[in-house]
Amino acid sequence: MNTWYILGAGSLGTLWAARLARAGLPVKLLLRDSTSLSRYRSGGGLSLVENSQTSLYPIPAETAQGSTPIGRVLLACKAYDAEEAAASLAPRLSPGAEIILLQNGLGSQQAVAERLPKAHCIFASSTEGAFRDGPFRTVFAGQGHTWLGQPGQSAEPAWLNELSQAGIPHQWTANILGKLWRKLALNCAINPLTVLHGCQNGGLRDFPEEVATLCRELSELLLRAGQPEAASGLHEQVQGVIEHTAANYSSMYQDVQAGRRTEISFLLGYACHEGERLGLSLPQLKSLQQRLLAALQARGLPLT
Ligand code: NAP
Repeated sequence: MNTWYILGAGSLGTLWAARLARAGLPVKLLLRDSTSLSRYRSGGGLSLVENSQTSLYPIPAETAQGSTPIGRVLLACKAYDAEEAAASLAPRLSPGAEIILLQNGLGSQQAVAERLPKAHCIFASSTEGAFRDGPFRTVFAGQGHTWLGQPGQSAEPAWLNELSQAGIPHQWTANILGKLWRKLALNCAINPLTVLHGCQNGGLRDFPEEVATLCRELSELLLRAGQPEAASGLHEQVQGVIEHTAANYSSMYQDVQAGRRTEISFLLGYACHEGERLGLSLPQLKSLQQRLLAALQARGLPLT
């Protein structure tokens, strides 16, 4: 049985590692460096908080520089760290290794796949929610679902049953790019505006025209990018998300408030870049990107 190597003991990495380990599956964490490794070991393991109950999982860990060959790895870092993290693993990957990419947005997956042409890169799109509230301690904040797939590959791999064993809700799809594009479009229509207007998702009810124009441009982009399924009913879904999550602050809003780097290059940045590549005129999206970059710059946050 292949060991599940998990690179990145952050929110989603912990959530996956804890559930796989408690199902009795072999799991190993790959931490950034020896300082991080000794800090982890002194705490005795990963803590996961579920329904206010905390459990400690003493999952073995090492740094990426180890020497045991790796046949399967979950890349659970942020999109802006993915390419470098994947490159650091390259010398250890067995031929045909499986790499599951949990990153939000688009662009990082393609960069990893180019770096590791001999590996099987499986893209994932998750609606589960988790956040860190201490070192190696994660709170499971929202039930969700994870779509997995390899573009164009309809046959699902046999190891998916290990996710069922671990109680990780998931489904294989031949159209993983459509799922990732749709999530990216929802993000572009909501998250940047919540940063610019300084509001909860529900605050966007006050800007219906702005939201509608963005959805029109995003739908045009999705259609031209060959993603008709992702384009269909986008505006209605955006309106639904604004209503159903009216009291929530978007992840980008929270990142900006906390002074954390955003994944802008892989979300709105990717959308604008693809629009230009396809020769589209998307003035509202472009202006949104410029306003968001200015807001990040004003706060001294990275622009990529
Ligand atoms: P996170 O909590 O910031 O965790 C990322 C982890 O990766 C951190 O522990 C980071 O270590 C580690 N890391 C980065 N580069 C590394 C390297 N080279 N070697 C070893 N470890 C490395 O991020 P997250 O919230 O889990 O998000 C991961 C991805 O999932 C993102 O693309 C996000 O958008 C997506 N996502 C998240 C959620 C959610 O609810 N959290 C939901 C859906 C999708 P340091 O702390 O040392 O930097």
